[in-house]
Amino acid sequence: ETVSEELTAAIRTIVDYPKPGILFRDITTLLGNARAFRRAVDALVQPWAGSKVDQVAGIEARGFILGGAVAHQLSSGFVPIRKKGKLPHDTVRIAYSLEYGIDEMEMHKDAIRPGDKVILVDDLIATGGTAEAATKLLQQMGAEVVSACFIVDLPDLGGRARLEALGVPVRTLVDFP
Ligand code: IMP
Repeated sequence: ETVSEELTAAIRTIVDYPKPGILFRDITTLLGNARAFRRAVDALVQPWAGSKVDQVAGIEARGFILGGAVAHQLSSGFVPIRKKGKLPHDTVRIAYSLEYGIDEMEMHKDAIRPGDKVILVDDLIATGGTAEAATKLLQQMGAEVVSACFIVDLPDLGGRARLEALGVPVRTLVDFP
């Protein structure tokens, strides 16, 4: 069994969540499976083993769980990228489009030093809008975003190309067509 097959089997699909017609890929079952969780984190960090990564940036909320584990494994720092209004110190903010309307995310102004090598982490990339906004925020602060990593790619939605257009290589472990 390949890593991809094992991880695919560990992810639960919820029909009609959060609304009719959506197949929600639920990684909580993967996180609760000790072997699958370890394999997922090991596979995400594998290209970076032994190289210096300054910060791992995780997108709220599932990107915190994975990003914390990835940062520990790479001996790097962790930077939370949060929904607006959650961070206590001075922040930089970016607006981005959702399917309906817009939202804003932010991070602390002093979280990144210019030239920092940063890996962006989230559970899943769909249209890429969320990760694109996070990448722009990091790049605005002078980060070199060396990779964006996700467990799941929904390749039909084209997110990968949006990050590659910003010069960011994308690593994913599981495809759901
Ligand atoms: P995007 O901005 O369209 O790429 O959507 C990705 C964001 O929405 C990520 O933060 C994901 O956690 C979340 N998301 C979208 N669809 C799913 C899903 O099926 N399962 C889990 N998270 C999802």
